[in-house]
Amino acid sequence: MSDGKIIKVSGPLIVAENMHDCKMFDVVRVSSKNLIGEVIELRGDKASIQVYEETSGLGAGEIVKTTGEPLSVELGPGLLEGMYDGIQRPLDKLLEASGDRISSGVDMPALNYEKLWDFVPALKVGDKVVSGDIIGSVQENTIFNHKILVPNGVDGKILEIKSGQFTVKDAIAVVKTSKGNKEITMMQKWPVRKGRPYKTKMSPNKPLISGQRVIDTFFPVAKGGCACVPGPFGSGKTVVQHQLAKWADADIIVYVGCGERGNEMTDVLNEFPELIDPKTGESLMKRTVLIANTSDMPVAAREASIYTGITIAEYFRDQGYNVAIMADSSSRWAEALREMSGRLEEMPGEEGYPAYLSSRLAEYYERAGIVKTLGTDERVGSITAISAVSPPGGDLSEPVSQATLRIVKVFWGLSASLAYKRHFPAIDWLTSYSLYDDRLSDWYKENVDENWSTYRGRALKLLQEEANLDEIVRLVGVDALSPKDRMIMETAKSIREDYLHQDAFHEVDTYATLKKQCTMLKLILEAHDLAIKAVEEDVEVDEILELPAREAISRSKYIEENNLAKFDELSKQMADEIETLISEGEL
Ligand code: ADP
Ligand code: MG
Repeated sequence: MSDGKIIKVSGPLIVAENMHDCKMFDVVRVSSKNLIGEVIELRGDKASIQVYEETSGLGAGEIVKTTGEPLSVELGPGLLEGMYDGIQRPLDKLLEASGDRISSGVDMPALNYEKLWDFVPALKVGDKVVSGDIIGSVQENTIFNHKILVPNGVDGKILEIKSGQFTVKDAIAVVKTSKGNKEITMMQKWPVRKGRPYKTKMSPNKPLISGQRVIDTFFPVAKGGCACVPGPFGSGKTVVQHQLAKWADADIIVYVGCGERGNEMTDVLNEFPELIDPKTGESLMKRTVLIANTSDMPVAAREASIYTGITIAEYFRDQGYNVAIMADSSSRWAEALREMSGRLEEMPGEEGYPAYLSSRLAEYYERAGIVKTLGTDERVGSITAISAVSPPGGDLSEPVSQATLRIVKVFWGLSASLAYKRHFPAIDWLTSYSLYDDRLSDWYKENVDENWSTYRGRALKLLQEEANLDEIVRLVGVDALSPKDRMIMETAKSIREDYLHQDAFHEVDTYATLKKQCTMLKLILEAHDLAIKAVEEDVEVDEILELPAREAISRSKYIEENNLAKFDELSKQMADEIETLISEGEL
């Protein structure tokens, strides 16, 4: 095999000739520095290669060698708590090896090859296995049981299976297949640009619970669904993604920090390890894999990072777990795609993005979903994909937002004016939507409250009525409103300020269980019904607004989860105070 030679360098893209030995998407090594690159276009013997590292100093004539393998990730015990760059190199090792800037060509295994894991077999000699069967497991940390799967393409009978301490590269079993005996290790490799196979896709029917009231109550995303969080700079996209990474009831979180500023990712790297899961009392990192490709890191690796992330997500899905993957921000990913396309001198589409932007986005989201996994048992796993979108100036008519909106079923639209008023999360209740709400309503009915849909519908209606009444107030002033309409506006305000406003940084308010959400919403609606009754009995609206119970309701979000009985007391207090107002009026 003869080596290729560089004929052109254009930023992160190089062109090499004499590359007849390589295939599309092969990983290559560039120059004596051994930089990692990937073939993204082949014309005759000329290959265009995106290089995942700093290319300054490269010049024509330097050699390019193909590895003959596609860009792949290593999958196995040790992934959790990992922090990687866009092509799955461990960040801590990279930094150790090269000081605080990522140096080039550093070869780093993603998994620790020396560490011993306690492998517990689930099957015995003589058992038949097919691809995807669970052959055993490793208790990876105090909260996560890592299933070891029979790799794709291996079907047969177990000849040998071990138990005890092994590294990820040791054989833990031998399977006799029609193509000879296959040694099985705890580590698998999988090419990132190809989705991992599954049996069938199912229809999502359970919510991914986030503890964020505006999301869970009004615009829920299903486990296995896709959601986007578009918004201008500073509107709270990152905080929404962080809140989901912290609190969503997924077994595994894959967080891809994609092209945003380095200090935001530093926050994640510093903050996440210290977060404690209230349910297990353990560090939330124990269920998390972080992939960081900040704006100061090579742009080509940013393009790859979401594929690295979703492949890792699929691997955990295949074990039968619920995974959530966040990408912050998919717009920065699209910009990386645009930059590479420009350097390839492809015909630019809208705003310079390549014509294949929407199909690439669709392919990405297509890898989310709830599936029956491979394997003989009836295992179900899911990937929920949630991406920030950062349209320039917040204008959703641009190509990335438009393409995303055509694919995803949940839209959490962040509004600059809400963020400006410090109403957080700044998810606009009038424009946001979830196309899962119908499908999920049965689940809420069975698992939370049989009247869930009614409460939700009434609250949304009150907010809509408020928007309409706002128009009238703007035209003719608040005095033109009937007492009943005034009360509607007051309750809508309470829904906005007391219920939907939720402080991510408040110890209690940062997370609300569905039980608490429902109880609180019910209280606000009960208070409204009582107030309307009083208004109909000619009680002045201002008198109702001054009731101590109303003041207490506005603080009810700070009631702790172990103290939900307090809501019943408040409800009673409200009823009593209203009753008193009415009887005073009758005197
Ligand atoms: P973006 O990623 O859209 O640029 P950020 O997520 O960084 O915006 O949010 C900007 C700021 O808004 C945060 O630093 C924080 O002060 C405030 N913020 C956003 N969401 C919340 C929230 N849920 N609770 C409290 N503050 C918030
Ligand atoms: Mg951000």
